Amino acid sequence: MSRHVEELPCMRTFTVRDGCLALGGTPVTELVAKAGGTPIYLYDQLMLETRIAELRCALPGSIALHYAVKANPMPALLEFLAGRVDGFDIASAGELERLRAVGAAPERISFAGPGKRDEELATAVEHGVTLHIESAGELERVATFASPRRPTPRVALRINPDFELKRSGMRMAGGPQPFGIDAECVPQLLRRIDALPLAFEGFHLFAGSQNLRTDLLIEALEPMFQLIGELAAQAPGPVRHLTLGGGLGIPYFPGDEPVNLPAYGQSLGACLARHAAPLGETRIALELGRYLVGEAGVYLARVIDRKVSRGEVYLVTDGGMHHHLAASGNLGQVVRRNFPVAVANRMDEPARETVSVVGPLCTPLDRLAERVELPTAEPGDLIAVFQSGAYGLTASPIHFLSHPPPREQLVSPATQE
Ligand SMILES: *Cc1c(COP(=O)(O)O)cnc(C)c1O
Repeated sequence: MSRHVEELPCMRTFTVRDGCLALGGTPVTELVAKAGGTPIYLYDQLMLETRIAELRCALPGSIALHYAVKANPMPALLEFLAGRVDGFDIASAGELERLRAVGAAPERISFAGPGKRDEELATAVEHGVTLHIESAGELERVATFASPRRPTPRVALRINPDFELKRSGMRMAGGPQPFGIDAECVPQLLRRIDALPLAFEGFHLFAGSQNLRTDLLIEALEPMFQLIGELAAQAPGPVRHLTLGGGLGIPYFPGDEPVNLPAYGQSLGACLARHAAPLGETRIALELGRYLVGEAGVYLARVIDRKVSRGEVYLVTDGGMHHHLAASGNLGQVVRRNFPVAVANRMDEPARETVSVVGPLCTPLDRLAERVELPTAEPGDLIAVFQSGAYGLTASPIHFLSHPPPREQLVSPATQE
């Protein structure tokens, strides 16, 4: 028997089979046994596919879909996405390596991020990757890698606008920033590009991450396009590419509402129509990390011990903050809140007690869930942490306490029995 996970609003896409959480139609107990044990990150291929289809359906047809690799650089996931998205955003030469290993086309890759090392700039230029320039100094350094033996360095300017995307989980623009070039300084750099042996590609504007407020995401579009239009008029050539950081968030906590994707897509379409003149020839890309992969991932840890301390129940698991810093609340959360969790092999049992789920590290920071209502769990049971597909493993202090790394698996749909 199979049903959907109803009691957890943001996980309706997951199913339960015979009381066990299932991915791609296979119970996680089976997936874990086949993979060799816990802890493990599982990524649901079908959910990735569905999310991409939703985006394609809601966004204007001319919008390209790029994946920001830093959200999750797992090789099988990159390989899967390489055939389904239109390009990638990288933040290091290491991420470029990973993309090259799965055969992604370099001309569809852009490289953003402050502090790109000379070796990284040289590698990017060699492969024809577009560099998203973060400062005047970086622009000058890129130009030194121009050589008749290499393709002309392709550059786009990342703009730090004088406005911000309000209510973002992380602010990436507005005010002083390590990211991007202050909008008022962009015209000067555009003139400089004209004087240097560089190919001007366009602009990049990424205003904030993890935003759930559809109204504010929509409100930010017009000023963004207006600014790009003004700067385009001063560019040394046509704006061939415009990358808009997505910033679309996913719900993690009670009360979080998902982004209204159709409404966002519609507003984006209207905005494109209004600004068709300066950007008629421009390839516009949304570059999404969390929104593409975040909801498709589940982290599973096994209960090793169950202890009661002065009335509080602790489920001690083999996984924790060293694999999943975000769920422990230590990756940018101001007030610690629980990610959605469940006992994966007891999905049909009602919540019976209030427990805290902790990891094996000797620090009070190592908790996966604090005082949550769960069915009674015993050693051997599996704890599932949902919304774990983005900023999970590679955003965690994996070497802390020298425990083994978790496994990772991309789960394809089971063939029908
Ligand atoms: C991290 C990052 C993204 C992805 O952000 P999400 O909030 O995960 O969608 C996009 N663009 C750039 C430049 C980034 O640094």
